[in-house]
Amino acid sequence: MLLQLRHRLLSPNFPSPRTFPSPKTLPISLSLRASISQNTNPQSSQSAAFARTVLFIPPGVEPDEITEEKVLPGSNIVLGPYAGDAKIKQVDFVKSSNRPKDCPRDERPEFAMLGRSNVGKSSLINSLVRKKEVALTSKKPGKTQLINHFLVNKSWYIVDLPGYGFANAPESARMDWSSFTKGYFLNRDTLVSVLLLVDASVPPQKIDLDCANWLGRNNIPMTFVFTKCDKAKGGKAKRPDENIRDFQQLIRESYRQHPPWIMTSSVTGLGRDELLLHMSQLRNYWDQE
Ligand code: GDP
Repeated sequence: MLLQLRHRLLSPNFPSPRTFPSPKTLPISLSLRASISQNTNPQSSQSAAFARTVLFIPPGVEPDEITEEKVLPGSNIVLGPYAGDAKIKQVDFVKSSNRPKDCPRDERPEFAMLGRSNVGKSSLINSLVRKKEVALTSKKPGKTQLINHFLVNKSWYIVDLPGYGFANAPESARMDWSSFTKGYFLNRDTLVSVLLLVDASVPPQKIDLDCANWLGRNNIPMTFVFTKCDKAKGGKAKRPDENIRDFQQLIRESYRQHPPWIMTSSVTGLGRDELLLHMSQLRNYWDQE
């Protein structure tokens, strides 16, 4: 049943991504808005099909019903009837586990935060829970890597996973995906979605693409959370929205449809409330299944 649910959250019957016009032809936000604003006409099957391929349409929403207001700003995520109770009122650190099988064994749903070292994971977790220094993840390369569980509102978990790809670590001290995190992803039945954090202030990095592709190939439900969207480098460097588009272009082959994605900044608070709403609709749907 859980596997079926994962599949449904990940692939709600979207057509192949190859059937829609290349995002290269329009900036993401413009192409999205154009497709949605044309979608008031029920006959407009072309724009409904287009919406189905670029948008994340949650359970309970018909593609034909989507209007621009239902798409969370700075994302491809449609808000559906399951969104609610998004506020974080209480956060308790529960435990650090050094093996997937030591993780808490209750049935509460969880979201796992994953990303390259320095991507802004601790900052985002602290911004989501509005506390400083909640995220305890060790940042020292080579130090024991732990899976940290935080219980939110006594009902669901935020899981802080070890960062991968420490820039200065020797190969042997880097994350061993095969023996550690992969086991967690493949066996954790209560995992609602991985939040894969990707730094939008830099061009797509191979290690992030490898991670995204692995998750896609293994049907692990996931959301791309682009971080540092406030950070424009100027000069010839690409803007965050351009880096995001390039990244998505590169991972398309691994996904049957576009996974949910959202732009965030822990400096300006961009995307915080929207991300919590997205998590609430996934969680509430999961809860009632
Ligand atoms: P972690 O290693 O993934 O936990 O990353 P941190 O949260 O420690 O952040 C790494 C660096 O990026 C720090 O210098 C942060 O101040 C900076 N940073 C984190 N989030 C943002 C953001 O949204 N915008 C900008 N401009 N900098 C950020």
